[in-house]
Amino acid sequence: MIWLILMAALLVAGRLLHWPARYVWAGVALVWLAALSVARDPRLWLVGGVVAALVLAYGAGLRHLHRKARPVAESPTIPDAEIDRYARHIVLRELGGPGQAALKRARVLVVGAGGLGAPVLLYLAAAGVGRITVADDDRVSLSNLQRQVIFAARDEGRPKVEAARDAMLALNPHVQVQTLDRRIGPEDTDLIAQHDLVIDGTDTFAARQAVNAACVAAGVPLVAGSIAQWEGQLTVWDPRRDAPCMACIFPDAPAPGLAPSCAEAGVVGPLPGILGSMMALEAIKLIAGTGEALRGRMMIFDGLYGENRTVKIRRRVDCPVCGSGHFRQG
Ligand SMILES: [Zn+2]
Repeated sequence: MIWLILMAALLVAGRLLHWPARYVWAGVALVWLAALSVARDPRLWLVGGVVAALVLAYGAGLRHLHRKARPVAESPTIPDAEIDRYARHIVLRELGGPGQAALKRARVLVVGAGGLGAPVLLYLAAAGVGRITVADDDRVSLSNLQRQVIFAARDEGRPKVEAARDAMLALNPHVQVQTLDRRIGPEDTDLIAQHDLVIDGTDTFAARQAVNAACVAAGVPLVAGSIAQWEGQLTVWDPRRDAPCMACIFPDAPAPGLAPSCAEAGVVGPLPGILGSMMALEAIKLIAGTGEALRGRMMIFDGLYGENRTVKIRRRVDCPVCGSGHFRQG
């Protein structure tokens, strides 16, 4: 007991008299050694000493890591005026200042400003993705407003890309938005090659097929989501990184009537919000190079029963779109 009191006295005196910590701990270690040498049962002191050493080493390791960590606000590529806007991103260890700077540098093409495109565009703009291109040839109609939350009632009849651009810039004036009032086809390889990432929120097989082929030719990863009624699915097509492309998994168009569009089959309002938000999340992960993207995996969400599962999907060597020889050189 006397030894413990001696140790405590040393610690208290060291704290009160501001002795250097290493002398205090050296003194405590000497007392411990003395106690160990005269104890009748030294095992107790040995175990206590080892535990104390482990706790101290853990604390020292933590302090070392804290000293090494750079304050993320020092990142030179995010202007001061925007630091506060992205503060909740910047404090995320997996994103931080470098991740936010990568978002600001990124160029993303969003194909389709419908149910999936609406949350994708809003979250990309809010997240500070620097350059966003949005392509859609449709006009805002009243039946869109049940789920396409980027539009307001006053937008009825306007080109979707213009209404979407206004909403994005109202949310975040620090991003650049380019609009294309048209569809994206297989001939758009050069346009796609100017982007780091494409997000497909179109709702027909033919449109998806065209976007997929152009992305494979340009060598740009494609975040693809689709929804119908109560169900949705989501993956990242990226044959350059050995994940399948859409044609690896869906080589042929479904038989007529087997895959009805949302207009024919209906869709519950929040479903595109859920899938679209997940697409924006995948985009942020891909741009910042963090986490595990859904490459080679397809997530399937069933809203009616509240179920969620992920299945593995593989690239086909003989795929007519991404099989060998179909990539753009260089
Ligand atoms: Zn393929």
